[in-house]
Amino acid sequence: SLSDRLQQTFKKLRGHGKLTEDDVNEAMREVRMALLEADVNFKVVKNFVKTVKERAIGQDILQTLTPAQVVIKIVDEELTALMGGTQSRIHMSSQPPTIIMMVGLQGAGKTTSAGKLGLSLKQQGKRPLLVADDIYRPAAVKQLEVIGASLGLPVFKMAPGTDAVAIARGAVDYAQSHLNDVIIIDTAGRLQVDERLMNELKDIKGNVHPHEILLVVDAMTGQEAVNVAQSFHNQLGLDGVVMTKLDGDARGGAALSIKAVTGVPIKFVGMGEKLDPLEPFHPDRMASRILGMGDVLSLVEKAQQTFDEAEAKKMAKKLRKDEFTLDDFLAQMQQVKKLGSLENILGMIPGMGGLKKQLAGQDIDLDGKEMRHIEAIIRAMTPKERANISIINGSRRKRIAMGSGTHVQDVNKLLKQFAEMKKMMKKMKKMQGGKKGLPNFG
Ligand code: GDP
Ligand code: MG
Repeated sequence: SLSDRLQQTFKKLRGHGKLTEDDVNEAMREVRMALLEADVNFKVVKNFVKTVKERAIGQDILQTLTPAQVVIKIVDEELTALMGGTQSRIHMSSQPPTIIMMVGLQGAGKTTSAGKLGLSLKQQGKRPLLVADDIYRPAAVKQLEVIGASLGLPVFKMAPGTDAVAIARGAVDYAQSHLNDVIIIDTAGRLQVDERLMNELKDIKGNVHPHEILLVVDAMTGQEAVNVAQSFHNQLGLDGVVMTKLDGDARGGAALSIKAVTGVPIKFVGMGEKLDPLEPFHPDRMASRILGMGDVLSLVEKAQQTFDEAEAKKMAKKLRKDEFTLDDFLAQMQQVKKLGSLENILGMIPGMGGLKKQLAGQDIDLDGKEMRHIEAIIRAMTPKERANISIINGSRRKRIAMGSGTHVQDVNKLLKQFAEMKKMMKKMKKMQGGKKGLPNFG
């Protein structure tokens, strides 16, 4: 299936750093194939792949994310956007009855969906009326009556031989006098889009002015459903699509293409022959379903939110184990710079409240010039010096000051601050160690 294919592709993305063009190209080659095999419209695929590539190349890989997760997240967001982004609802008229017209080819699921939609509306406290306006097959009226009876919904019909427009108008009158606030007109279908069908539908539209014209399409027909939607939209004007039979082994292509190709959003999906309420269509949930990775996605989001926190925890762990080096100090200062203040970052480290208070009294100014000095000083040190400041003797201090364009006093001051910070950490460790110990950050 499409989701299996995509999962296979994402598994291949490994490593860290920035996503390279090669990584992304390779992954997107496979995503393109998977989408085409799922019968997604080729123009839609082309645009989709282009958009994802542009977004993915050069993306920073956060430490808590794998490259695969980053690409999955982008693919997920773009799939969601492709299907309209947010849920599209039906418009309810401020002046009842709201008139909904179900149109579509024969066998698409109009009659079934009319019943399911009626049930949804009934459950929302509406008083829907089903209208038997498929006048060509006597069985069609009977089918709607059976559905209406089983769902407890009234069904409006007229004598055989009455034309479709007259029935629709009659239904509006009936609804007004019977306080039905929504009417759902079940129209006739054909095996193919033909002129006679279109003219009849246009006639009904012109006479009763529906608030919603919903096209019912069968997901199993793939790109044919997209073509049908395009021609109905061109000729009749559509407000939404009901995509049925998504419970079957539909490849997902129609659902992914229809909005992008026609501009008409999917509003509902049919998930079975059983007369359950019609399900609203949620682009984001559909995208996750296609990716088959709902859990992974929320994980990715969570990871992004907690990235800074995770980094801070790592530091806290090093401090606790007394492995905190000047390199870590530098890294932490860069975090501080990003976050705005030292207080902020200390506030994010569990158990660091005490240190925060002590530092507050020392008036450490970590912005602007001083910050740049500290960075320059640390960068002028050798890795050995950064890892172990006790080896930094007088001549080393001179060299570091020269190398960083600062003075020996600046180097001394930094080393003193750093040593004090470590001392404070040890004190805190002792203070808390006897009782519960520091929180376990690991
Ligand atoms: P219409 O000709 O457009 O009115 O289509 P119908 O409502 O009569 O449905 C045609 C067939 O498709 C019937 O056998 C329905 O039970 C079936 N059907 C409709 N919607 C769905 C669906 O969402 N899933 C499945 N599996 N079958 C459906
Ligand atoms: Mg029907």
